[in-house]
Amino acid sequence: MAAAARTLRIGLIPGDGIGREVIPAGRRILEALPSSLNLNFSFVNLDAGFETFQKTGTALPDKTVETLKKECDGALFGAVSSPSTKVAGYSSPIVALRKKLDLYANVRPVKTTAGSSNGKPIDLVIVRENTEDLYVKEERTEEGPNGKVAEAIKRISERASHRISTIAGEIALRRQGIRAAAPGTSSHSQPMVTITHKSNVLSQTDGLFRETARKALAAEKFSSIHVEEQIVDSMVYKLFRQPEYYDVIVAPNLYGDILSDGAAALVGSLGLVPSANVGDGFAIGEPCHGSAPDIEGKGIANPIATLRSVALMLEFLGEPNAAAKIYTAVDANLDEAKFLSPDMGGKATTQEVLDDVLKRL
Ligand code: ATP
Ligand code: MG
Repeated sequence: MAAAARTLRIGLIPGDGIGREVIPAGRRILEALPSSLNLNFSFVNLDAGFETFQKTGTALPDKTVETLKKECDGALFGAVSSPSTKVAGYSSPIVALRKKLDLYANVRPVKTTAGSSNGKPIDLVIVRENTEDLYVKEERTEEGPNGKVAEAIKRISERASHRISTIAGEIALRRQGIRAAAPGTSSHSQPMVTITHKSNVLSQTDGLFRETARKALAAEKFSSIHVEEQIVDSMVYKLFRQPEYYDVIVAPNLYGDILSDGAAALVGSLGLVPSANVGDGFAIGEPCHGSAPDIEGKGIANPIATLRSVALMLEFLGEPNAAAKIYTAVDANLDEAKFLSPDMGGKATTQEVLDDVLKRL
């Protein structure tokens, strides 16, 4: 007897700019997944972003948060435009969403395909802690005899370090499974997690992160993972010299922020890089790019970052086989390089890239 089909309810939050052009592509690929996966989707459209702020006075309406909490299994978030000058009362809805839904991990895979890369293909993922470190934003300034002195708190907790390291271990194991389902797409043979820190200088804060990560990754279920650690500055050097070396990188908030953007630069276009905001039992897929006002409305935004974000969301919703199908179709599109958007040096529209990926599903 066939297993009962699973239905996932997905919140769609296109936001501003090209978010409105790429999120529909994300919905299409979910609808086009083969029926043999036994997966169905239902969708709910939700508002957030700068235009929502201009219309309603809030960038993140309560209804959006409530609907996500009560009805949805996961969500896709497009982009929000950031006004160039500070606008009173406006703050980023995605930052607020991460807090309200306790999405404590920011996950950013960076990948090149075997066919499209000059050297060895890159296939790494940065797992960034998202709730503490210097981002607790507890700063103060004092007037001293020699002028002002400003300080900021760097907070590292055992709980946050433990859960981010555990999720990094789980990601490493799952990636190994996806590689097995899509052979030839990666150069890694064994799962590896690299713990990033600066505990040679910050022995208490980063020392606690390092020690907690070591403990979390020493769990029996992670015994197949090779665990190593690296001081963040030497990691930056190696990440740029030898990116193909890395598999999963786990980092406290600030180092993770910097490493994520740096690593994204390794693959050419922002239009390729996905991310996910992950908590316990919930995940929001989000392309790394912004609202790209320079190409808005032209129908040429690259949908690949969004399609990969959809796959990443599915991984965290417990559907790695569905995710692997999308990854394989996207890699094939890039490898064949017949339908590439202008940011990749091609001439294809958003729709044409999407159609080519759908054809390969
Ligand atoms: P925002 O303030 O919303 O971040 P931005 O002006 O910084 O907007 P980004 O979205 O961050 O713009 O994009 C930076 C550059 O990369 C822009 O030139 C943009 O056109 C390009 N870009 C970003 N995403 C894509 C995409 N999906 N497809 C094609 N080009 C993209
Ligand atoms: Mg930007």
